[in-house]
Amino acid sequence: MGILLAAVAGLLLGSFFNVVIWRLPRHESLVTPGSHCPHCSEPVAPYDNVPVLSWIVLRGRCRHCGGGISVRYPAVELGTAALTTAVALFLHSSQRIALGEILVLTLVPVALIDLEHRIIPNVILAPAAVAALIAGALTRPAGLPEQALAGVGAALFLLLFALAYPRGMGMGDVKLVGLLGLCLGRSVAVAILAALILGVGVGVGVMARVGVTEGRKTAVPFGPFLAAGAVIALFAGPPVVHWYLHSVL
Ligand SMILES: [Zn+2]
Repeated sequence: MGILLAAVAGLLLGSFFNVVIWRLPRHESLVTPGSHCPHCSEPVAPYDNVPVLSWIVLRGRCRHCGGGISVRYPAVELGTAALTTAVALFLHSSQRIALGEILVLTLVPVALIDLEHRIIPNVILAPAAVAALIAGALTRPAGLPEQALAGVGAALFLLLFALAYPRGMGMGDVKLVGLLGLCLGRSVAVAILAALILGVGVGVGVMARVGVTEGRKTAVPFGPFLAAGAVIALFAGPPVVHWYLHSVL
């Protein structure tokens, strides 16, 4: 039941994120005007605005003008639903489920906005941080010190990185990592490590394709890597941290 709820909520929120991802960086209202076709500006009827299904039924075309509707819309809806469902399915304690849902629902719009516009909006991060603290206080008050410590520690760690390498990372990344700490606790270390490995891997790949000089100029935003690292840490973090503390140290 909870899993079905997570899937439906993920689809609906994914649909809302499509609006957020487009309008927020353009400083447009999230509410008005309602959804409309980007080509003919015709309003989208509620029955044509059902997540994923409408796009399939209409074969990715506007009902009025036949203009193409990007596959990105259903992809964001499906991706969000996959993440919210996986959290409900694979995480166990109420604390980890609540913080996990807050985390994935923040990461979808943040990663896509950063990818396209190179900004990580405070207007998303700040409410998410407040929600993570409230969710922690409600589900497992004893875990709050770990949340806070991980948030502050991770943000300070990334601040050093951002100061050393200002072109690759910004204050948005520092704040995002603080949120990851609030949601992941000590597993945030796994998230940062995974993000750095992915970032370096993609960086090397870019340089191999376009050459080192060109590659250095192609600054890739770090937010999407942090988001990917956070998802890895969310599901694989606790066993990795456990293994490290018990086998390596
Ligand atoms: Zn149209």
